[in-house]
Amino acid sequence: MIAFLVFEGAFGVDCYADMPPTKPGKLVVISGPSGVGKSTVVRGVLAECGGRVKLSVSATTRPPRPGEQDGVDYHFLSDAEFRRRREAGDFLECVEVFGRGHWYGTLWDEVRSSLAAGKWVILEIDVDGAADVLRQFSGAVTIFIRPESLAELERRLRSRRTESEEAVQRRLAVARHELQLAERYEYQVENVTVPAAVQSICDILRNRGLSDD
Ligand code: 5GP
Repeated sequence: MIAFLVFEGAFGVDCYADMPPTKPGKLVVISGPSGVGKSTVVRGVLAECGGRVKLSVSATTRPPRPGEQDGVDYHFLSDAEFRRRREAGDFLECVEVFGRGHWYGTLWDEVRSSLAAGKWVILEIDVDGAADVLRQFSGAVTIFIRPESLAELERRLRSRRTESEEAVQRRLAVARHELQLAERYEYQVENVTVPAAVQSICDILRNRGLSDD
């Protein structure tokens, strides 16, 4: 059974001039529509790909969902604190993802020291944030996680039962937009089963030079 698909695509240069010559760190940008299962797949990648892979915990102004922990799932910030940190230059990138006042961003603190320590840092971010990261780190590995279909994505969003109908519709509209931009990514992985998608991403990272030590 073919459980996932990998397409190789557009951009990516493979080193940073300012990184140490041996075992350099790398940014790994993972995008995909809300509800596609990115967080679950990324958790699997962290468990399977070895200790050199680390997740950047993003900051957001959206309220925590049930079970989400501050500092683990996100750094949950007030609007004022997010704005203060944005103005202080604390973010590598940040965007208002759903056009309704919820900001999301990658903190430099989550990235800088890890890259310097040779870590492969996963940024689970939207397509606009990804474009911003690539402008600054052209060697980042870029992976887009696709749903099997839009209908399957809608089913998953509704099964969460944490979103209003309006929020589901907004997320689906953003998803359509994001899927149109998927070919900008070097790799597209279809999330049919989580273990297969995890395996696929670990293979990509190893092909790009990730080693276990
Ligand atoms: P959710 O609210 O479902 O956790 O995330 C909504 C969207 O925000 C997802 O597409 C996710 O990838 C994106 N996102 C999460 N963190 C960041 C971030 O730090 N920067 C950007 N640009 N997008 C983010």
